[in-house]
Amino acid sequence: MTNPKNPLDLYYTEEFPKQYQEPPGVQAKMNPQPDCGETSYKGSGKLKNRKILVTGGDSGIGRAAAIAYAREGADVAINYLPEEQEDADEVQKLVEAEGRKAVLIPGDLSDESFCKELVDKAYNELDGLDVLALVAGKQQAVDDIMELSTEQLRKTFEVNVFSLYWVVKAALPYLPKGSSIITTTSVQGYNPSPNLLDYAPSKFAINGFTRGLAKQLASKGIRVNSVAPGPIWTALQITGGQPSEAIPTFGQQAPLKRAGQPVELSSIYVFLASDESSYVTAQIYGITGGIELA
Ligand code: NAD
Ligand code: MG
Repeated sequence: MTNPKNPLDLYYTEEFPKQYQEPPGVQAKMNPQPDCGETSYKGSGKLKNRKILVTGGDSGIGRAAAIAYAREGADVAINYLPEEQEDADEVQKLVEAEGRKAVLIPGDLSDESFCKELVDKAYNELDGLDVLALVAGKQQAVDDIMELSTEQLRKTFEVNVFSLYWVVKAALPYLPKGSSIITTTSVQGYNPSPNLLDYAPSKFAINGFTRGLAKQLASKGIRVNSVAPGPIWTALQITGGQPSEAIPTFGQQAPLKRAGQPVELSSIYVFLASDESSYVTAQIYGITGGIELA
């Protein structure tokens, strides 16, 4: 018998040391290291021989999903930006340690033609494709709309929203019945912070895309759902996602009074990918430390 664990003091509960890296950032240089389940996630064959593309799979939530998928028996293709090679190499090692295939495909999702290449390469090298775990995202806090450049506005929507259309359109001809598409939204897609005027609306768009696409693809036997994380300790936050002064107490405003760790999202990405969620589509799952999705 194992005793239940108190969610309040699981994982890191101290103030985080102030730190900043240029985006997209390298997780290996963060202090403390986010916990992506490297030493803790245990699989049980839920995704045996599935073929999964994970965007943003080098670090944070995408890395936690990639590790869990491999431990559940899946082969994975991982997309990330070239600057993140070091993190991606580590994920490749972890996946290969499970005896599964890890295909690394660096490139920029804000480029439509790259999105098509990414999907073709993932399909060819994995010898199939049946799950899209679309986790990549861009977040840069800007206090004043007058300072929010059109360049940033465009890029945020290209990465967070347009790439979903481009990847899904490229993948649909390959996806068999029973496939699952998982997007990644946010509590920001319900309750926008004043300094995230590009990011938060991009997450509102992901909510609409996910629910509409789910209805469009239901008759094809393809399910579409989204995960809405609350404050999770990842590179996204220390690369300008939050102002530096907000880093030490990051997450402490949540009812559970601490930031979440990426590994706390692993199971939901596994559930939504697997046949266990066969009656689940057009849904958004919050993993938020108690922040309501409303
Ligand atoms: P992360 O920085 O570890 O992961 C984000 C990834 O996005 C990066 O690793 C990078 O590979 C990818 N990315 C960014 N721009 C890209 C581009 N142009 N082309 C290709 N890839 C690109 O941070 P994370 O927190 O794990 O982020 C994962 C997802 O979770 C994002 O969609 C983010 O919006 C969402 N999210 C995070 C939090 C949080 O508190 N960390 C909260 C809510 C939602
Ligand atoms: Mg990264």
